[in-house]
Amino acid sequence: MTQSPMLTSEPSTAGLGIKCEPHEVAPDVLIHADFVNTYAVRLGGELLLVDPGFAHLGSAVRRAVRAWSDAPLTTAVYTHGHADHAFGLRAFLDAGERPAIVAQENCTARFRRYQMTHGFNARINQRQFSLPEPFFPTDFIEPTLTFRDALSQRIGGTEVCYRAAKGETDDACFVWIPQHRYLFTGDLVIWQAPNCGNPQKVQRYPVEWAEALETMAGLGAEWLFPGHGLVVHGAAAIREMLENSARYLRVIIDQVLERMNRGETPEQIFHAVEPDPELAALPYLAARYDHPKFIVRNLLRLYGGWWNGNAADLLPATWQRQAEEIAALAGGVAVLVDAGRHRLEEGDSVMAAHLAEWAARADPTDRAAQELKRDVYDRRLREEPSLMGQGIYRAARNDAKAILKKD
Ligand SMILES: [Zn+2]
Repeated sequence: MTQSPMLTSEPSTAGLGIKCEPHEVAPDVLIHADFVNTYAVRLGGELLLVDPGFAHLGSAVRRAVRAWSDAPLTTAVYTHGHADHAFGLRAFLDAGERPAIVAQENCTARFRRYQMTHGFNARINQRQFSLPEPFFPTDFIEPTLTFRDALSQRIGGTEVCYRAAKGETDDACFVWIPQHRYLFTGDLVIWQAPNCGNPQKVQRYPVEWAEALETMAGLGAEWLFPGHGLVVHGAAAIREMLENSARYLRVIIDQVLERMNRGETPEQIFHAVEPDPELAALPYLAARYDHPKFIVRNLLRLYGGWWNGNAADLLPATWQRQAEEIAALAGGVAVLVDAGRHRLEEGDSVMAAHLAEWAARADPTDRAAQELKRDVYDRRLREEPSLMGQGIYRAARNDAKAILKKD
């Protein structure tokens, strides 16, 4: 696989993506990479911008684009409506540029949902990326041209094709420029295992994601420009990468469906299903961002109801009452804390976390219980490879720390 020799692969925020000086990464394609990749494409005498990026990086993106070309920006496309892709156009608009803004039609519904659930998304973002405070953008720049399945345009005399997809989001699309064999995948390719299970976000679409990867694999692209990570050059390497990524998803999807149809419970399926070990070992399918077990959860949510298979959990007692009962049976919160410490020393941080939760929920004012909770999640944080898992463990550890600090 040929990677762009000019890209330096230093890990940026959140271990996802790359950061490099803006440069022409392929003929007539400028890359601005800072966690997310923004591309400007020179087509005839016009520019196409693929993913304007974060709101706070919009000025830097425009400076880079304008240092490279003074051709008019006639079209910008959002590969999907996420905060790191679709919020960076303000600097262009403020400078008087008026591109057509292309997006898949579900993008507008996404922006409505973001407005409806703004506080919730700000808190998710804070936990997921371990930000100092809740944050989510408020400046929505609406698409001016949306499409349902596919759209073709001529930009600077060159055909540009947009194809709708679902994957990490329901409003995704990829961009195909047949004349140059350029493929812009958005987050359908991120140089990580697909972010297809995120525990805090709305439904993901593993089957449609695999289908989109398979469709893209059939295009014969010479250049692949991902939403995050390195640009790939070479038709064989691109095809292999796309097909392997699809197979990674298919292996998980097939196992979940087979077990659901056999009547297994969500809990059994969660513990039983694993990704293909050879695919999981590929450098572009490492689970450092999302976790394959979370993909299992997403499939269970997609195809099943919310009941977890335990009848006691259908209309349950509160966690606090359950914890009080367990503590009373054990002989007190201190016994649970001792057992949790023991498990932690033995290296069983999974069971130690359950004991810490029971102890801290049975008596939230118990310092030893909060200290155990702090230490347990500190360990789980250090043991956890996925950013999605790390964010939640860090937040739980910090909750315990905040309670301990108050006392
Ligand atoms: Zn992204």
